Amino acid sequence: MKRRQFVGSVGASSMLGAFGTLGMLSGCATSGGGNGPKVVVVGGGFGGATAAKYVRMWSDHGIDVTLVEPNASFISCPISNLVLGGSKTMADITSSYDNLVSKHGVKLVRDMVTSIDAEKRLVKLAGGGELAYDRLILSPGIDFMWEALPGMATPAAKDKVLHAWKAGAQTVALRKQLEAMPDGGVYALAIPLAPYRCPPGPYERACQVANYFSKAKPKSKVLILDANDDVTSKAGLFKKAWADRYAGIVEYRPKHVATDVDAATNTLKFEFHDDVKANVLNVLPPMRAGEIAVKSGLATANKRWCEVDFLTFESKAAKNVHVLGDSIQIAQAMPKSGHMANQHAKVCAAAVVSLLSGKEVNNLPIYNNTCYSFVSDEDAVHVASVHAWDAKLKTMMPVAGSGGISKAANELEGRVAMGWARGIWADVLG
Ligand SMILES: Cc1cc2nc3c(=O)[nH]c(=O)nc-3n(C[C@H](O)[C@H](O)[C@H](O)COP(=O)(O)OP(=O)(O)OC[C@H]3O[C@@H](n4cnc5c(N)ncnc54)[C@H](O)[C@@H]3O)c2cc1C
Repeated sequence: MKRRQFVGSVGASSMLGAFGTLGMLSGCATSGGGNGPKVVVVGGGFGGATAAKYVRMWSDHGIDVTLVEPNASFISCPISNLVLGGSKTMADITSSYDNLVSKHGVKLVRDMVTSIDAEKRLVKLAGGGELAYDRLILSPGIDFMWEALPGMATPAAKDKVLHAWKAGAQTVALRKQLEAMPDGGVYALAIPLAPYRCPPGPYERACQVANYFSKAKPKSKVLILDANDDVTSKAGLFKKAWADRYAGIVEYRPKHVATDVDAATNTLKFEFHDDVKANVLNVLPPMRAGEIAVKSGLATANKRWCEVDFLTFESKAAKNVHVLGDSIQIAQAMPKSGHMANQHAKVCAAAVVSLLSGKEVNNLPIYNNTCYSFVSDEDAVHVASVHAWDAKLKTMMPVAGSGGISKAANELEGRVAMGWARGIWADVLG
């Protein structure tokens, strides 16, 4: 995305003026080579990789950016449900980090950040090294509240009852479980209470598994056990797909709060309902901010999500530390999505460039979100929203009258959805 397009996208009318050449900086971190200001980004997912790229671009390469990420390549959760459905492969959802390094000059460190010293402005790495920063940007995604499901405490239970809610090895393993399941078997998907990563994601997954069963094992069932009172996103559209396309395959049960799992017998236990046993059990545990954010004391909302100033994404708990993406305490109607993490990252990158060059931070951020869901191999639906800064409430609010939702699933939306995926992967990593 060009700078001009970005301004349109985030509505940052004063943004361009904010970026001259970087002003002189004093007291900047110096380790890692060079004398310019230093930004360390933790996590090369949708939020972190975008932030790393855009801090480099919008500082005219004046800010030194180091991205710390343990994975060798970027594997996208968006479209990963289609890998489970069998119409896409892992190769389709995997991208390289090479452009960030070769085109944008981001320093990529393949490691995990194990601790943050906000006083000394230093992070420690699992590999033993440390990195100094002037500003730290954290986008570590989500981790799971395993304590809510005591039977999942052991590594053996985690290997057997999968979440596949971080695309990668578990996506492949869950697909194998589905392939190995006998026709006439039951796949049960447990959904936690919102907020969780990607509100429509579980319902899209149910469609994808049902689509696979309808072709390969038509006597099988998809049982959705939802802790929420109703489908949390695009409810009418998903229910229509289940009734019209997957009648007799999908069964939806709301208000099913899972309290435990017996991994040995593939059994789910609930607060108020009978146990459910399945051939393939796919459990999404309750979620919270990525571990590094929680253990660094940044998860100030119920020790679960990180509160931030939405003008800069600076943490309310630590100076010079910015948190974005799924880890944050959301504003009203703000989904935990890759699209949203990408938008957070641009507002944050712009603010960090401004702060490090002594310029005013844009005080009118506005951004959008579109979540596509595939209800079959080819047909998709979407929901869109626009969010703007409310100076009185000091938070982001949905813009009245903006956004929208599909009337019906169709193939054109499916093509647009794939275009969206390719476009955002190129924006994050290209
Ligand atoms: C099945 C599914 C479908 C989805 N579909 C869509 C969709 O269609 N559209 C959409 O917009 N969103 C979708 N999402 C949601 C989207 O994937 C997330 O909202 C998005 O990935 C959030 O970005 P993030 O940067 O917060 O986290 P992530 O993208 O998960 O990135 C976090 C990164 O941080 C790294 N990390 C964590 N801890 C550390 C550490 N200590 N040190 C270094 N690195 C660390 C991780 O390795 C990871 O690469 C979907 C999610 C799922 C599960």
